[in-house]
Amino acid sequence: MAGDDPRLDLDLSSPDPVPDDGIEHAVALMRSGRLFRYGEDRSTDLETSALEQEFADYLGVPYCVAVNSGGSSMFLALKCAGVEPGDRVLVNAFTLAPVPGSVQHCGADTVFVECTDDCTIDLEDLYRKAETSGARVLLLSHMRGHIADMDAVTAACEDLDLCLIEDCAHTLGAKWDGRHTGTFGAFGCFSTQTFKHLNSGEGGLLVCSDDLAAARAVLMSGSYMLYEQHGARPPDRVFEKLKYQTPNFSLRMSALAASVLRPQLRLLEERAFTWRLSYAMLAKYLRTHDPISIPERSSKEEFVPSSLQFFVNGLDRDEIGAFVDGCADRGLHIKWFGRDEAAGFTATWQHWQYLREPQALERTAQILARLCDIRLPLSLTNAQCRTISDIVRASLP
Ligand SMILES: *Cc1c(COP(=O)(O)O)cnc(C)c1O
Repeated sequence: MAGDDPRLDLDLSSPDPVPDDGIEHAVALMRSGRLFRYGEDRSTDLETSALEQEFADYLGVPYCVAVNSGGSSMFLALKCAGVEPGDRVLVNAFTLAPVPGSVQHCGADTVFVECTDDCTIDLEDLYRKAETSGARVLLLSHMRGHIADMDAVTAACEDLDLCLIEDCAHTLGAKWDGRHTGTFGAFGCFSTQTFKHLNSGEGGLLVCSDDLAAARAVLMSGSYMLYEQHGARPPDRVFEKLKYQTPNFSLRMSALAASVLRPQLRLLEERAFTWRLSYAMLAKYLRTHDPISIPERSSKEEFVPSSLQFFVNGLDRDEIGAFVDGCADRGLHIKWFGRDEAAGFTATWQHWQYLREPQALERTAQILARLCDIRLPLSLTNAQCRTISDIVRASLP
């Protein structure tokens, strides 16, 4: 009965508009033509520097450098952590393409660590891979907002003498045991690409607490000799030591991007509340379907879910494929990490065939084979959550 077949009339991938004051700021900037982040003779009203200061204050860290993508922030973090060509870097295997991409950008090699049923890093495998690889750095991706037990991760990094870099592209505003992600390791890396918590189309933010690392990051981001125009930066004497020794990689964030981000940062707490509400509603409905389960989360995890992940249990690949297609026929576009062909943002390590060291990750393969993902736009209503759940039920065998 086609009439009773549930249908979703909502594009889950549609972004949310820039707040009005962001639009006004951006228009004023375009009128002035001052789109470059630095001034030359005049250095007041610098949007990008103001954003850096506000973001550092928000996280409670001393230093922040704004760049042109999340990938660039990870590249800079790796460079500042001393990663050299030929080095190996540990990365949890459930992640997004720019993460191993940033390692490759340094001329280094990614060594993947298995993922667990709760979609976080497998610590036993971390110990194993750290020992066999000789890696000195762990680039930990809080993929899709799932935060590992950070007490255990930081203890393991100490044990193994690993420098921890956090990829917080999906955990902006999220906390573990009351502490912001991005502040556990030596560096926190954030993205402001359109489908993250703050949207400037493209953009990234790097935070850290170490004077030398912060000065290197500022110089490498492409500050020319204008680093004094940075707000959240170390003292000038730190730059004096480094300024002629550090390459400029030209990864700056423009003033235009910063101008649309600043008002969004002010709305983040309010938006986080909306996202949590949507997640709770949809999770509650989806849990009522037998083959569906939702990854477990620790009570210490305070997450800001801009997407929801669920497992489809007890079905084979063809059945899950048919389920995902059935949802799509009803207007619900679910991402599935088990596809042979990568689609959208669901590439997995098996698709990154440029890696020099082929890697077998059986546990991760089994987990991703049944893992699906739904984006949660801020505008999602309770009624639409119900419709999504109805479509899921109607599309299961
Ligand atoms: C988006 C994303 C990044 C960074 O992406 P950019 O497009 O370079 O800003 C990094 N890690 C994860 C998990 C992401 O989803």
